[in-house]
Amino acid sequence: MELSDLREALGPSQPEFRAKQVYEALYHQKVADLVQISTLPAALRGSLASVHEVGLPTLDKRFDSIDGTRRYLLRLADTRTVETVLMPEAGRDTVCISSQVGCPVDCKFCMTALMGLERSLTAGEIVGQVLFVARDNGLLEERSRFNIVMMGMGEPLLNLPNVLKATRILTDPKGCAISERRITLSTSGIIPKIEEMGQAAVRPKLAISLNASTEESRRQLMPITRKYHLKDLIDACRAYPLRAWEALTFEYVLLKDINDTDADARRVVGLLANLNCKVNLIALNPGPGIPFEKPEPGRVGSFQQIIRRAMPCFLRKPRGLDIFAACGQLKRNEG
Ligand code: SAH
Ligand code: SF4
Repeated sequence: MELSDLREALGPSQPEFRAKQVYEALYHQKVADLVQISTLPAALRGSLASVHEVGLPTLDKRFDSIDGTRRYLLRLADTRTVETVLMPEAGRDTVCISSQVGCPVDCKFCMTALMGLERSLTAGEIVGQVLFVARDNGLLEERSRFNIVMMGMGEPLLNLPNVLKATRILTDPKGCAISERRITLSTSGIIPKIEEMGQAAVRPKLAISLNASTEESRRQLMPITRKYHLKDLIDACRAYPLRAWEALTFEYVLLKDINDTDADARRVVGLLANLNCKVNLIALNPGPGIPFEKPEPGRVGSFQQIIRRAMPCFLRKPRGLDIFAACGQLKRNEG
């Protein structure tokens, strides 16, 4: 709930400042229960708690990787579960959150795709993942230090109103106060929604899953390209209103003998020419039902070298592979 939602929930009988007190208790002090809001009169606390709940997701399971990554299976009010991942790094923890249960976009290298879409998450459920993981790892006091990536399950741009609402709650200086610069949304390329997001006053940084260097190859790997052509996607990126401090990120999953040749790398450079951007490469994280292989390290190195001559290009190391927490492996795995 944003402040305006809280005002409505409290009703006209309550003074203006009550909604603010509840808002600050929820998102700044991050109370886990309405009866803990000490600034409210006891009677109001009781009556609020009898009608409303602080709907944080609950822990179903937590898997700890040998590399420090933690994968959470969080249970929502309707008993469905989503995955949230914490990737600790010295001074720069990253929380990877989901925007949908499953995903309707049919990328051929992604295990989440195999689930299909069950439903989109509410703004509260998106924020709730961050609050849950922050609380579980003592990050609440050091909030300026962690990054949020909307790169878990789901296509965030197919749930844009809730994703933007969650972003407003997470960034509000009177609430969670996380900087917009520390939140990144990754999309498979839903062009009209990219344009819409660009108009939002408060919005995450934008990352695009490119994953191919030609229209044809992208169509094979990401059938959504049939609807939203690669050429139009790049045009939308050129037209995207970047803020002064912002650059686009392009992500590229390397699949052995499919999209990992030097010629592919050169075409990527051509496609992204003159865009203010960087490229993040990731070697495929294999999984059951995924008909591709990981390229050899030498191939990955050569690909990166070619792109690096033209623009910043980083190799993302897989995190939490042993607990199925890595990119493209989120499928509510129990093991
Ligand atoms: N739906 C959004 C965000 C979630 S996917 C999107 O597609 O951008 C997050 C990232 O994981 C994407 O860049 C996607 O291309 C990548 N990914 C998917 N499956 C993968 C796999 N098996 N190995 C490595 N990366 C994968
Ligand atoms: Fe959905 Fe992203 Fe997976 Fe594609 S890569 S199926 S858009 S979660």
